[in-house]
Amino acid sequence: MLKILDDKNKMLRTVCEEVKKPYSAEDFSTLKEMVGFLSLSQDPEYAEKNHLQAGIGLAAPQIGLAKRMFAIYLTENDVLYKYGLINPTILRTSLKQAYMSGGEGCLSVKEKHLGLVMRYYKVVMAGYDVFEQKDITITAYGYLAIALQHEFDHLNGVLYYDHIDKKDPLKVSLGAVEI
Ligand SMILES: [Zn+2]
Repeated sequence: MLKILDDKNKMLRTVCEEVKKPYSAEDFSTLKEMVGFLSLSQDPEYAEKNHLQAGIGLAAPQIGLAKRMFAIYLTENDVLYKYGLINPTILRTSLKQAYMSGGEGCLSVKEKHLGLVMRYYKVVMAGYDVFEQKDITITAYGYLAIALQHEFDHLNGVLYYDHIDKKDPLKVSLGAVEI
C-alpha cells in the first residue's frame, strides 16, 4: 500500500526533477502501482476498509518521489482514462476556462478549502505513457483536462488551493464552463 504524504510535507512544495532516459523498470512499476492504488481507492468497499479517499490522480511527490511523473485513473461518460505519464509537458491550452462546481480535492489535502479553481477548459499534453510504452499526446477537455492540470501542478510544488482567489473564493472567470 502506498503511503500518501500530506500538504504539510515539504515534498509537496518541491519542483520535481525530470526523469532521465532510459526510463527505469522501477519507475514503470511505481507508476503502475500508483494507477492501481487509484483504481482500488474508487472501490467503495475497499476504500472503506482501508480508510482511503477516492482519488482520480496521483503525482510522484505525493508518495515521496521528486520526479516528474503522475498517474490518472478517471472514468467519464463510461470511458476510462488511464495514464502513467513520465515527463509530461503542456503543448497547448485553450483561452476558455473551466472549473469543478464543487471545487477540487486532493489526496494530500485533509482540510477543506472552500473555493473555485479556474483551469484551462482544454489542454494538449505530451509525455511518455507506461501503458502504451511510448510518447503520447493527450487532447483533453473539461474534467480530464482539469485532472491533468491538477497533477501537473504537483510536479511544480503547486496545490489546488493556491489558485483560489483569496478575496473572492467563489469568483468565476468570464465565460468559464462549470464541470
Ligand atoms: Zn492533488
